[in-house]
Amino acid sequence: MKYIYIQPICEVGEELLGYLVIKLEGIYGYPCRIAPPFRVPESSYSADRDQYNAEIIVEKIMEKMPINAEKLLCVVDVDLFVPDLNFVFGLAAGNAAIISLARLRPEYYGEKENEYLFRERTLKEAIHELGHTFGLHHCHDIRCIMHFSNRLEDTDIKGPGFCEVCSARIRRK
Ligand SMILES: [Zn+2]
Ligand SMILES: [Zn+2]
Repeated sequence: MKYIYIQPICEVGEELLGYLVIKLEGIYGYPCRIAPPFRVPESSYSADRDQYNAEIIVEKIMEKMPINAEKLLCVVDVDLFVPDLNFVFGLAAGNAAIISLARLRPEYYGEKENEYLFRERTLKEAIHELGHTFGLHHCHDIRCIMHFSNRLEDTDIKGPGFCEVCSARIRRK
């Protein structure tokens, strides 16, 4: 039996993780397991940016990927970057992916707290990054979950579903 592992890094709310488990099982058809929390690798921290390098975190976590993991999704609550970008909501590399919660809360932008919106955004980012690990590329359809999110507005417009083309690609696997 193969699983999708959800790997919380530092503190991530249990309720949120439970929500991801139920939704991701339904969407990807693999049972999901929550791995014990992991500390954010210190080598991923950039003092200049006060952010964490998503590529380094994923690399470190992949070394510990369980044998029965089909995919691994890291969830962190620190702000992420990759060398060429100011920030990223998430990243996928091979069978592993990472998403950051840091910029998904309305409060981050000085807006009113909204737990429902935060949860939906988290789910969308999770589906999107896992979609890459299942071989999907970015999609032109702005309503499709595989559309690239440059800004949170893009995330709010799309998904959580796949367009017909992407959903057929997932099914063929
Ligand atoms: Zn993407
Ligand atoms: Zn699509």
